[in-house]
Order: sequence, then structure tokens, then C-alpha cells
Amino acid sequence: MSETTEVTMDKIVSLSRRRGFVFPSSEIYGGLSSTYDYGHYGVLMKNNIRSLWFQAMVQERDDMVALDSAIILNPRVWEASGHVSGFTDPLIDCRTCKLRFREDQLDQAQCGRKPSKHPGEFSECDLTEARQFNLMFQTHVGALEGEGSLAYLRPETAQGIFINFKNVLQIARRKPPFGIAQIGKSFRNEITPGNFLFRVREFEQMEMEFFVPPDEAEKWHRYWIDERMRWYLEYGLREGRLRERVHGPEERSHYSLATSDIEYLYPIGWSELEGIANRGEYDLTQHTKESGTKLEYVGEGGERYTPWVIEPAVSIERIFVAMLVDAYDEEVVAERERTVLRLHPAIAPVKAAILPLIAKNSDMVTRARKLHEVLRKGQIVEYDDGGAIGRRYRRQDEIGTPFAFTIDEQTLQDDTVTVRDRDSLAQERLPLAGVPDWLDDALERPWQTPKT
Ligand code: ATP
Repeated sequence: MSETTEVTMDKIVSLSRRRGFVFPSSEIYGGLSSTYDYGHYGVLMKNNIRSLWFQAMVQERDDMVALDSAIILNPRVWEASGHVSGFTDPLIDCRTCKLRFREDQLDQAQCGRKPSKHPGEFSECDLTEARQFNLMFQTHVGALEGEGSLAYLRPETAQGIFINFKNVLQIARRKPPFGIAQIGKSFRNEITPGNFLFRVREFEQMEMEFFVPPDEAEKWHRYWIDERMRWYLEYGLREGRLRERVHGPEERSHYSLATSDIEYLYPIGWSELEGIANRGEYDLTQHTKESGTKLEYVGEGGERYTPWVIEPAVSIERIFVAMLVDAYDEEVVAERERTVLRLHPAIAPVKAAILPLIAKNSDMVTRARKLHEVLRKGQIVEYDDGGAIGRRYRRQDEIGTPFAFTIDEQTLQDDTVTVRDRDSLAQERLPLAGVPDWLDDALERPWQTPKT
């Protein structure tokens, strides 16, 4: 069973679509490459990821504040940060097949000709020299298009944090070490988007900039790598599928003094889930220079310094895919195959299903609806009376619902219900009146995936 389930990206895409997590965007107009819309369960799961990140990064700490900065900033921000001149990937065109490739990914790319080879391997391949392609989306602000109206959609949320450093320092009265956390959409005109949500052009970043005294930077860098790894393990990702990879000096971004990626073993191989960088004083210094506003910390005794910055940065999309891949399982139960998402209950979009065993039995339906009404005040739960009970269980398994409460004949006699556990398939009987407390407790219990 679990051990032999091979999880491919195709299986994840197909389940996501079949069960309404994620749809290809603009489908009725032929789609738009690597652009997706989230359906009901996708929205619920994203909400869970977002709020658990916020809970760990802001709510449970006393050294963090939140921020929500604009997507379109003064374009000088991106000049100062180095994005206008340096946020580029090396682009190669093929004059024959008209496809575009990233020079640093040629060995993974496929030529447009059949049989597929790598670009440059056919005699007809006619590749251009690499040129630097800026990944920022341009737009125009105001009614007149011209050089003065040019602006960018932010390619990262971090810069919105740096330019608000002084506001936060003064108004939130913070002193390093402290952090500013932000969640919001970022946009990159990726040359080669793909692998489902792993690389898209519009994604939701969760970034935190942690400002520290320079001599503590190394210590805090280590702290945040460990802390973020702990978060992934807490929400059920398997330890053997996670690793830290330290960047070599040649691959670090222009601002980075040290970077470690937390990588996940996606179906495409080990790839970056989250990056944790030591950005040094680069950003605050750049914005001080370019804006003329001093972004530094001045202590009560008059000591002043530019804090260094440690940044854990991730997108909800990469977590979403990693969690689906980690959870996806197929097994045979009573000679029937079932597909199940073994998601951590805190991540699962729906926490419990309420199912009247016989949909035509009005007593069962009445009680089930009543239970649904009570439970939905506290949790995202779902009532379902469509089709045979086995099919309803399978539907819930595929969306990862950890518990199902079934109202049956016996309920009508003794006011008890059956609760079915998604992972073990164990069933037990509970008093109907005790279900809300039972569910709250069950959702608080530590959980570990049965997948190996
Ligand atoms: P990559 O090398 O994969 O392009 P990156 O190193 O450029 O990523 P960062 O600039 O460090 O990425 O961005 C921080 C985080 O934002 C990444 O770790 C990843 O979780 C997420 N991210 C970046 N680009 C994308 C994208 N195109 N689609 C989805 N998530 C992304």
C-alpha cells in the first residue's frame, strides 16, 4: 500500500482538478500558460497554510509585527533594491522552433522538435546568444502612458518591508532583534513556468525580515533555518523528504551573504521549498542611500547601527504542492482501491463530514443537518447525502477530511453516531451530544502520517 504509491505531478494535478482544489485559469478561453484558479477546497487549504504560518511567525511571538504593503510601489524602490538592473534570468531563443529557454536550465528543457531532445541537439536548432531578461512585470500608473508612469508589480514582498522599517521602528517601538512579517501576491515573468504550481507567474509569498545586531546575524540565520524546518515537520511533512541545502557562493543572490534552502523531494526531484537568506545590511543601506532617509537603529544611549536582516521566504504555492504530494496515497481496502489525502488535520480543507446513512430517511437527515448546523459554527465541516455511503467516504478521503460522522439506524434509537478515521479506517461510536467536543479534541491531538 502506502510504500508503493508513486506520486507523480500528473496524479496531483488530476486530483486537484477532479476534486475542485485547483483549475487551469481562463479555461473557457483556452487557458493561459501556467496560470491557475483555486476552487473551494484549494481556498480552504491555502487559508489554513496562511494562518498557520501567521500563527507561528506573528501570533505566538513577542518579537514580530505584521505589515501589508502595496503591490505597486514607487519604481525607485526597485532601482535601489537592484531589481531593475539585476533581477534577470539568462534567456535563449530558438530561431527555428520559436521557443524560449533559460540558459541555466537547458539540460532540463525540451526542444520543440520531435523526438524531443535538449535545445541545441538537432542540426536545425538555431539558438541565440543568452541575453538577460528582467522578470519584473511592467505596468503604467495613471491615465497617461509614458516614461514617468512606468511602474512594476512587486516581484517580492520584502522591499515593502524595508521601506517601512522606520515606521515600524518608531510606531511599533521595536528594537532589534525583531521581525516584520508580510503575506501577499508577488509577480514574476518567469521564462519557463511549469510543474503545476511550483513555478507560476503570480504567487502568494510569505516573507519575514528579521532585523538583528550584525554580530548576531549568524546565530539568527541558523535559528530561522531550524525554526522553519520544525514548522514543516509539525504540519506533517515527512522528515526524509526535507533537507537543508547550503548555497555555494556562485549561486547566491546579489544581496545574500549566506543562503540555505529548505528543499522538498517533489516529483521533479529535490527542489527549493523555502529560502532562508542572510541579507546583511544590503537593503537598509541601499534604501538609505537612494531615498536619503536613514534606515538605522538608534538606541536609548545614542548608539546607532544598521541592522542585518535574516529572511525566511516561501510561497503558499510551493507549500501547497509539497503538502499534496506528501499526503497523496493509494491503497486497496476490501478489494477496492481508494485514493486518500493524508493531510495534517490542521491543513485539511474540511475537518469533518456529516453523513446520514440513508438519504431518504428523514429522521436521519434531520439529525445530520442539526449536527452540521452545530459543528459548522466552530469548524469547516461538510454535510453530504449524495449517493451510496461508500462513495461519499471516498469523496471525503480524496479531499483529505480526517473524520466522518455517520447518522444511522442506531442513532435514532440511542443517540450515538459512528466516527470514521480517514487514515486507519477505524470506527467507534460516540454520543451525538458529545461530537462537538470530541471533534475539537481530535483536531488538537498530535498527528503523524502513516505514510512511510
Ligand atoms: P527559484 O530559484 O526556484 O526561481 P528563487 O530562489 O528565485 O526561486 P526567491 O526569490 O528566494 O526564489 O523567492 C522566495 C520563495 O518564493 C521561494 O523559496 C519559493 O517558495 C517562492 N517562489 C519564488 N518564485 C516562485 C514562483 N515562480 N512560483 C511559486 N513560488 C515561487
